[in-house]
Amino acid sequence: MLNKINLKSLSKEGVFSFVMDQSLPRYRAEQLMHWIYEKYAADIDEITEFSTGLRNALKSIAYISNLQLAKSLKSSDGTKKFLFSLRDGETIESVLIPDEGRLTLCISSQVGCAMGCLFCVTGRCGLVRSLKSYEILDQIITVNRLIQPKKITNVVFMGMGEPLANFDEDVKALWGIVQFLGISKRKITLSTAGIIPGILLLPEKAPEINLAVSLNATTDEVRNKIMPVTKRYPIRSLINACKKYPLRSGRRITFEYVLIDGRNDSLEDAHRLVKLLKGIRCKINLILLNPHPGSDLKRPPDKRVSEFQNILLRNNMRALIRESKGQDILAACGQLRAGIGRDI
Ligand code: SF4
Repeated sequence: MLNKINLKSLSKEGVFSFVMDQSLPRYRAEQLMHWIYEKYAADIDEITEFSTGLRNALKSIAYISNLQLAKSLKSSDGTKKFLFSLRDGETIESVLIPDEGRLTLCISSQVGCAMGCLFCVTGRCGLVRSLKSYEILDQIITVNRLIQPKKITNVVFMGMGEPLANFDEDVKALWGIVQFLGISKRKITLSTAGIIPGILLLPEKAPEINLAVSLNATTDEVRNKIMPVTKRYPIRSLINACKKYPLRSGRRITFEYVLIDGRNDSLEDAHRLVKLLKGIRCKINLILLNPHPGSDLKRPPDKRVSEFQNILLRNNMRALIRESKGQDILAACGQLRAGIGRDI
């Protein structure tokens, strides 16, 4: 593959330039994109619309990259988790969540993660490397190929890694998801631990996607213990950056708040959260912690969860309680890669 062009690494304009450079007619670019992104061709030889001669000519200068499925697990609630191998032998996870007619794929943007969030297995492993745009895009293509004729309808950047720490490749992948895979920008959500420069730059560079912020605490002192990124980007500055994120009518920023027993779940926390988010068009997802082996973090009792939610609701905030999906397959990010998962 050395010196050959990976066709999945090209932008839409890049595919047209590639075809023109080979002195091929323009419609060949449309055919290439159709076969790669709609028929999920995993090899140039699968493009049977091209003559053997044309396929051989293309194969001498280009190839189509792919992910290899290493393992898949299905939960009793319908959630499906995939472990994919990359060309260098590293592995990443994607989780398919069927819900009310939607098929949402939670995708990874890095192998491992440098953010070190306390409640996350991926964070414990550290960062190995960031993904290339085609490796991000390929998670959707590969799952589409596996579940056809069904198709992914929604995408969330909420798997392994911090998307805004891999800004350029993620932005390129976002354009690919919209332009090649035809998924509406309204159906794409990027979740960040709070990288402020990325939040500020995103509206300028990326399609108008939805933003989610993993908040998880109401004071810098507590957040710093749960999410060390707070040292660089304190809560107040993070909230100010969120206030600048442009929102079309009817759209809201999502704040995720993983409730952890005795750490961030007091009623004072709920009141502080109301004050912090005042004036931001948002919704709050209260996430029940997915306990994992080797961690002493616990989810709060149900009564505390409802009290916390009620304070938010009484103050006219949208607050939903979210149960982690796929608990029987350890669907929280990083658990399968860390070798904790089991086949079912
Ligand atoms: S929760 Fe997300 S940002 Fe935090 S360590 Fe895990 S993968 Fe990284």
